[in-house]
Amino acid sequence: MEQLCYIHFELLNHKTQEGYWATDKGLQVKHLPEVISKSKGKTATGFYNIQTQRFRLFSYSEQDWNSLFQEYIFHDKVTDKFYYLYLLRILNAINTSKFQSEAFKRAIHKQLTDYPTIQEWFIKDLYKYVSFASLNKQELILPILNEFGYDFKVIEPRLLTDAMEIIGESFTCRELGIFNQFRLIYSKIQQWKKENDYRLINITSQAHNEIIQLILWLNDLHSMVNMSIIEKYFYYLGINVRTLIIRKLFEEHRNNNHSINIGWLETLLNSKRKLLADYQITLFGLRPELNLSLEILLDAIKSYADKKTFLTLNGVIDIAIQQSGSQKIKINLDSKRVFDTCNGGLRVNPKFNGFLLVEYQIATNSTLALDNFRERIDIAINRMKSLKDLSYDDIDYAGYLINELNDSKEDLPKLLLFLKDKYPANSWSIKDADEISKCLIPELLTINKARFTLNSSIETFSNKEEIKENIINTLNEWTDSDSKEEWIISIQNKELINRILKGFYVHNTGESSQPFFTDWKDIYNNLKNNLLRPTDICYGNLSEKKHHITNKNFVWCKHQPCFRTAIEHKQSWKDYKLTDMLNILGHNIIEDKGCGFIANGEYNKFVDIMLKAQKIVDRLQCKECGHILFPAKRSKGNDSNEYTYYHCENVQCKEYHQEIYINHCFNCKDGIIDSRESKRCPNGLCICPECLTCCSNDFFDRMANKYLSSNRLVPQWINNRLGKGHKDLHTLFCPKCGTEFDDTHTECPSCHYKWKIANYKRRI
Ligand SMILES: [Zn+2]
Ligand SMILES: [Zn+2]
Ligand SMILES: [Zn+2]
Ligand SMILES: [Zn+2]
Ligand SMILES: [Zn+2]
Ligand SMILES: [Zn+2]
Repeated sequence: MEQLCYIHFELLNHKTQEGYWATDKGLQVKHLPEVISKSKGKTATGFYNIQTQRFRLFSYSEQDWNSLFQEYIFHDKVTDKFYYLYLLRILNAINTSKFQSEAFKRAIHKQLTDYPTIQEWFIKDLYKYVSFASLNKQELILPILNEFGYDFKVIEPRLLTDAMEIIGESFTCRELGIFNQFRLIYSKIQQWKKENDYRLINITSQAHNEIIQLILWLNDLHSMVNMSIIEKYFYYLGINVRTLIIRKLFEEHRNNNHSINIGWLETLLNSKRKLLADYQITLFGLRPELNLSLEILLDAIKSYADKKTFLTLNGVIDIAIQQSGSQKIKINLDSKRVFDTCNGGLRVNPKFNGFLLVEYQIATNSTLALDNFRERIDIAINRMKSLKDLSYDDIDYAGYLINELNDSKEDLPKLLLFLKDKYPANSWSIKDADEISKCLIPELLTINKARFTLNSSIETFSNKEEIKENIINTLNEWTDSDSKEEWIISIQNKELINRILKGFYVHNTGESSQPFFTDWKDIYNNLKNNLLRPTDICYGNLSEKKHHITNKNFVWCKHQPCFRTAIEHKQSWKDYKLTDMLNILGHNIIEDKGCGFIANGEYNKFVDIMLKAQKIVDRLQCKECGHILFPAKRSKGNDSNEYTYYHCENVQCKEYHQEIYINHCFNCKDGIIDSRESKRCPNGLCICPECLTCCSNDFFDRMANKYLSSNRLVPQWINNRLGKGHKDLHTLFCPKCGTEFDDTHTECPSCHYKWKIANYKRRI
């Protein structure tokens, strides 16, 4: 069975460009027509056969047109925002040499005969969608539509055609749809500016055309344009250029050429031309989604200017629900457009071998005896034989050790002599790192002590004296000693040894004098596009203490200390984000803390809210009918007054007004608990899919106290559960299948579900 679809290339590996072709429903396409398989960035519309996993292009036969028209006529136009998706895409991508007017006409005729009621709107709709297509395509289609009794005229905006002529594209003009013409004008002028092209002078000297003026303005080649021009063309441009327009307006405000008026910007974003943005998403997007970043950016600016706070979670969700118009749609809050994103920062080089050197004292195992030494030699030899990927030197060394050990098999004193010779008592060795010696532990050798000494790499720091002092003080404090150069710790004290290894970045790489910091920004710039940049939003937590070694301020970014944030005053207006725009309006919310700029607490709270809101709106769809879910009531369980209960408001839906609980896990703050998916523990609480938290004694105590403090009777269901919290009983339940197991497990013994956050991090 064939179904209409469009396909796109889903990139899996940024470096190797590996990936696969998928349909808009996410199905993997195995067989593609020759023409497509080479053009990975493109999308194509056609038919997909689920059984054969074969995709074919739309063929312009009468039968294909009939299938397309049927799909459109019967599509649910109330709940699906992009109900016209396939029709719009096909009409705008018509291959004029393959198009057969007779087949097209017969198909329209058939629909009109089969369903006379569609007469009113069907052909008018076709006209509407074809009017965004190129002149050539319009001229092909309109005469056919007019045969059904209409008098449609081709749409050819004069100013746009002139603009195309000015940039020397009057010929391609006929082949491009309206949105593509805008895109071409923008990219051509941008390219000319980059290459300092002589043709630019011609244009700038006679920029009487509004569209050209607007694009020149966005390239810093024209003074502030008339606001009506912006209003008129805003939604003919893609989201990236629309973002640039907003940024440039703030730049003009900064230069006193314009005065930002949030009310005007709101009208701009909500103009009736907004529909054009939807058409562009349908035509160019890999998957149709609503991008709300600009709406949220404006609301955030307004909110901060008025009240010195940003949007609440409810506020963001309200915007999402309001903008989606209760239709079935994926919502992208696109936070990266609003906030500064991490540029890698200035972080510890992963190859840096540490501020300390570590050595281990290895000694012959004192429990070696006549009745066990042969067996133990065999274990060690077997271990050595199964070592993989050894260098030639190591293979030699391992061979030599195996021979020596084999020779000692008949003679315990000989073995002891050999081991004492190789690993003399009271001598220190960094050989712990070496895989070969490890094979002898613990049967033949034991590690007794670890010794830490200062690493010479400290000498490369400008504040080396300060650093040395910090290290010495910290180590003396931790080991309760008064040493200046070496710290010896018994191997039994594993916690302390691990703490030192981690805290001073100690690892035996064999290499030396790698720098402590790596400036990832430089690395990303040098590698150009070969490396996927981090895309996380930069809102590092400033550490309360200075760094214990370098004595400098730092933030925690991705669980690593980072010595330079990505928040900054931008060099170019093209990079303006929320913080810059607020700054231009006189609200400075960032401050240099000696490790880059850090924004105020309100900002960090807002970033948190946006990330949380995205996870929630991803789930705001009724599983039964696809409608967006509306907040049902405020949660009584927490004091934050956030939406946590939602329901479907589609009266025809089976799930109509059925309450759904969607909230963040209050323990790990990462997992999303969705009552439609999460299993419940026997106490009736939803289980977090990320950390497996369900309930604790503390939780039921708090519930009971809420009643007691307001002089109400504690309900029976709470009373029955007091002291029976699963956290305190060390009992876990699988969020997928509900199986009970104890908290020593790291995966569900029944369905093998693995969760992200390890047990030791559990805290309620
Ligand atoms: Zn970072
Ligand atoms: Zn950062
Ligand atoms: Zn529903
Ligand atoms: Zn959790
Ligand atoms: Zn529980
Ligand atoms: Zn399970």
